[in-house]
Amino acid sequence: MTRVIGVVSGKGGVGKTTLVSNLGVLLAQEGLDTAVVDANLTGANLGLHYGLISYPTSIHDVIRERAAIKEAVYKHKSGVDIIPASLSFEDVLDTEPKNLRHKLDTLGKDIILIDAATGLDRETLRAIEMCDDLVIVTHPELPTISDALRTKSVAKKYSKNVLGVVLNRVTRGDEIKKENLSAFFDLPILGVIAEDHKVRKSVEKKNPMVLEYPNHQISNEFRKIAGHLLGREPIHHKESFLDKIKAFFRI
Ligand code: ADP
Ligand code: MG
Repeated sequence: MTRVIGVVSGKGGVGKTTLVSNLGVLLAQEGLDTAVVDANLTGANLGLHYGLISYPTSIHDVIRERAAIKEAVYKHKSGVDIIPASLSFEDVLDTEPKNLRHKLDTLGKDIILIDAATGLDRETLRAIEMCDDLVIVTHPELPTISDALRTKSVAKKYSKNVLGVVLNRVTRGDEIKKENLSAFFDLPILGVIAEDHKVRKSVEKKNPMVLEYPNHQISNEFRKIAGHLLGREPIHHKESFLDKIKAFFRI
């Protein structure tokens, strides 16, 4: 049976897509048959994180019954399957990811990660509906946290299992501490990711952090979060010869 895990937030720009793109690679590298789905239908960009720029079929075509879900699947070099959303303006209007869960199940995947839209409008609610588990991403600042808390309440209303919270773009000056946040959300903190220009750099290079900078502290944190999703220790990083050279020269 497929396990569908949604990555949600209250506000945009907190790092949902970045998290999904990295976790997708890690889970596929673990040998799990994994797909990532762009359910941000009005702000598609998951494919871009993997360098998938032009594609004939998208999740929009599947929702509109113009294509079978299998036709919207694109294999990434890491092994993860990407189901992108359309980048075209015309496709954005009046599209809701309804009745998608059944179609996703027909793919027979082990794990599917859903990159949800921001906020709590219909687009996000339909995405939450099709998930088994949810991960909440937030910045450690009060307005973003309060929005994230609302998302948690909605998830509970839909009887979804919220696995925990990922704190992203954390800086030294942030006053809200991990322990306090865990108590505040009444959820475990699955990972704490620092603000670091390398994240932007890896997005620019269209190569997720865990592939572009596998030895970076943030990549370790992504491996820890992937381990949490699987209910086990952090996924172990097997350093290749190329990784060692890169680490030596700090590139
Ligand atoms: P969301 O999907 O929640 O809108 P994104 O994953 O698209 O958020 O990230 C928004 C922007 O923030 C992107 O430009 C991304 O490169 C950047 N970003 C995400 N996480 C970090 C981080 N830890 N450090 C620096 N920049 C980050
Ligand atoms: Mg996004």
